[in-house]
Amino acid sequence: MSQQKLSFFETVMRFFDKAASFTAHPSGLLEQIMYCNSIYEFKFPLKHADKSYETIQAFRVEHSHHKLPVKGGIRYSGMVNADEVKALAALMTFKCALVDVPFGGAKGGIRIEPRNYDRDQLERITRRYTAELTKKNFIGPGVDVPAPDYGTGPAEMAWIADTYAAMTSSEGALDAAACVTGKPIEQGGIRGRIEATGNGVFYGVRHALTFADDMQKIGLAPGIEGKKIVVQGLGNVGYYAARFFQEAGAVIVAVSEYDGAIYNPNGLDVDLVQEHRKESGSILNFPGAKNFKNNLDALEYECDILVPAALERQITKANAPKIKAKIVAEAANGPTTAAAADILREKGTFIIPDMYLNAGGVTVSYFEWLKNLSHVRFGRISKRFEEASNRALLSTVERLTGKELSLEEKNYIAHGADEKDLVNSGLEETMINAYDDIRELSLRTEGVDDFRTAAFICAINKVAVSYMQLGIFP
Ligand code: NAD
Repeated sequence: MSQQKLSFFETVMRFFDKAASFTAHPSGLLEQIMYCNSIYEFKFPLKHADKSYETIQAFRVEHSHHKLPVKGGIRYSGMVNADEVKALAALMTFKCALVDVPFGGAKGGIRIEPRNYDRDQLERITRRYTAELTKKNFIGPGVDVPAPDYGTGPAEMAWIADTYAAMTSSEGALDAAACVTGKPIEQGGIRGRIEATGNGVFYGVRHALTFADDMQKIGLAPGIEGKKIVVQGLGNVGYYAARFFQEAGAVIVAVSEYDGAIYNPNGLDVDLVQEHRKESGSILNFPGAKNFKNNLDALEYECDILVPAALERQITKANAPKIKAKIVAEAANGPTTAAAADILREKGTFIIPDMYLNAGGVTVSYFEWLKNLSHVRFGRISKRFEEASNRALLSTVERLTGKELSLEEKNYIAHGADEKDLVNSGLEETMINAYDDIRELSLRTEGVDDFRTAAFICAINKVAVSYMQLGIFP
């Protein structure tokens, strides 16, 4: 396969093949792990106000049924195609395995540019898509559980949940909310989900920066504070990641969007940029920042960490040699082509791979699914008990030591964990453990010189074990 001609799915296969060569699994098992189990491509009509019809093209790919349900986001974009959905579904299988989320991988997509449709049209498209999936058994709490992705958010997830509930039997209605994650809180969502992917990106990069030896190799001092960061795509993932980096003391020097980029070496306040974008319709012309019409150029700006958080295939053979960042933190799925990854590795750029770094979304989606099936909010039963125990302990310590803490200190220490605390704690734990697994595997496996290969090996091994446990491969 010539590298220039690789499609997104072929790129994922190439990464897979490289990793698979470091394992001893039989070739039949590796093929079963790599290929997509079910591909559903369909069309449905959308009626416009002038009574004309448009045919909408849609997809749902279930990559691996080694664990059920399968899980993966739904993307709305004019560029959606079968190859892309297959690639993203495959990445979901490996991502879930890597972070020990007990799901197979899936992905969905509708080939529309959401900016060109009003809310009513988007609702009708989403509901019809869900109805088609329901008819074909491509959605359900124990079958296939979608989530938000590029171009979709809580509103679409709420329409999906409602349509599925309306179409399911009274028996199935009990757990219907668990058919999709990323819902609004009032409709069975979980606190912390909306920012989960960006938060996971932050936890992952912050943890990487704690390894002084690794950072020394790429010429960076440990710690997040003062690091210069460029973010491509100020959507759900990019915005929250940038906010968490900023709160931790990093400097966001540039942000790029579909219509251009802005740059300020002294830092951009991402909340103000977001407000400016809401008011003016664009990030461009932000006070104090320089505009750049070519958004791709932003990837080549001087910075420590580049965070591609928009779409796949942004770092290519053409711009990889010009990238100055020491770390490429892949917040988006598939932002680096195989040829670009080779160039970056040769240059000594450290890539934190997508499959690991953006796993925060599916991790918290898993928590949401558990919440929906258990019908109880995390922390509801234990919060007040914990708080009372902590207060009793504090007053005993105060009595024994004769020292009194301030009210603020007491409230901070006594605070019982609520849903958001528990979600963030579970997410942080997941991101740290997975990073340590990848790092440890890369150190002990001779010939593995990048984290993507190490991450794929970890994931392949876990999926292989599942197939062996199912008795399919002895
Ligand atoms: P989103 O739609 O919320 O945001 C994407 C942003 O990128 C938008 O603001 C869009 O205008 C911008 N954009 C589009 N083309 C661009 C370009 N050429 N240059 C710069 N910006 C551009 O989508 P999202 O949910 O943030 O997803 C972004 C990426 O993260 C995708 O690759 C997605 O698959 C991945 N991802 C998302 C989640 C999630 O929970 N949402 C989870 C895992 C991975």
